[in-house]
Amino acid sequence: MSTLLKFYRPLFSIPYSTRTVQLGTHRFHSLFKPKRRIRCVSTSSHSQPSIGVGGKWESPEFSELWLQNTISRKKEVFRPKTEGKVGMYVCGVTAYDLSHIGHARVYVTFDVLYRYLRHLGYQVTYVRNFTDVDDKIIARAKELGEDPISLSRRYCEEFNRDMVYLHCLPPSAEPRVSDHMPQILDMIKQIIENGYAYIVDGDVYFSVEKFPDYGRLSGRKLEDNRAGERVAVDSRKKHPADFALWKTAKEGEPFWDSPWGPGRPGWHIECSAMSAAYLGYSFDIHGGGMDLVFPHHENEIAQSCAVCNHSNISYWIHNGFVTVDSEKMSKSLGNFFTIRQVIDLYHPLALRLFLLGTHYQSPINYSDVQLESASDRIFYIYQVP
Ligand SMILES: [Zn+2]
Repeated sequence: MSTLLKFYRPLFSIPYSTRTVQLGTHRFHSLFKPKRRIRCVSTSSHSQPSIGVGGKWESPEFSELWLQNTISRKKEVFRPKTEGKVGMYVCGVTAYDLSHIGHARVYVTFDVLYRYLRHLGYQVTYVRNFTDVDDKIIARAKELGEDPISLSRRYCEEFNRDMVYLHCLPPSAEPRVSDHMPQILDMIKQIIENGYAYIVDGDVYFSVEKFPDYGRLSGRKLEDNRAGERVAVDSRKKHPADFALWKTAKEGEPFWDSPWGPGRPGWHIECSAMSAAYLGYSFDIHGGGMDLVFPHHENEIAQSCAVCNHSNISYWIHNGFVTVDSEKMSKSLGNFFTIRQVIDLYHPLALRLFLLGTHYQSPINYSDVQLESASDRIFYIYQVP
């Protein structure tokens, strides 16, 4: 493997070094211009990596984008809510460590969608958040004796560096939880006022039984649901699936003042509040990895509809996992490779090509053989004048 790389790297026409990439000064070599062009697009070919397209050569009116919508469980033609404009929110990383290639797959997938929408001529507002207030961040910061917010800021920068390596365009906005407490608090207040949440000893819980549509996205029935993985089971909850909107502060944890006492937001509320702040309660595309369908996105729908009963996201888009020996790659399973580890061995565009070599909804199995094959292909692509 390393022999191949020694051979390939000097021949690449794209400059690359993990040491020299500077955030803010890097200029993207964009392959697409943000204007509508007439292009050949084929129909529903399964070999297409990320997005299905259908249409004809002759007329831009027939350039259609097809997306698999998780909520309808159907492949649908993309129609924006406002002509010529698209609002897209993609759940970002919880910044407490270097990102792994499961994360890379999410953001490369949505980068392709973002570029393609722009190519079709849409003015796209792409919002991708950072979770910088979270149990995992607090635990890591404690281990390292560091302030949780500054630890998180550091890893947000590392993440953005990875995105530069992978040639992902920067989103229109990258909101962080710690910068949006007023919006989060306002939203929780409205959910309580509208009768969808209750307060227990400084904690605020969303009452899932108050929202009859709960489970529509994931297809889960309420009786099948267990408390979310990130929320400890709490006997004070009215229903086991009720989830925290606000958590009372524990000793030594960062906290913000609220009408219910000092504390911090639950995980799900941040995305409802930040997507509403940047895109409103109704917008076009909400995306993320498949593991976010339940509970995260299910809970987001409940929260947003509890505040605004007209809230509507047209397309819920979820990408498949990166697997290792058929198991999902994740930090908690310990079977992950960081983006940095992989691009230390292979050119980042080889990783990008590998991630796009499979339909975005299907699982993709990570292996050295696959990466070497992607390296070969990217090498030959760049040899063509
Ligand atoms: Zn989210």
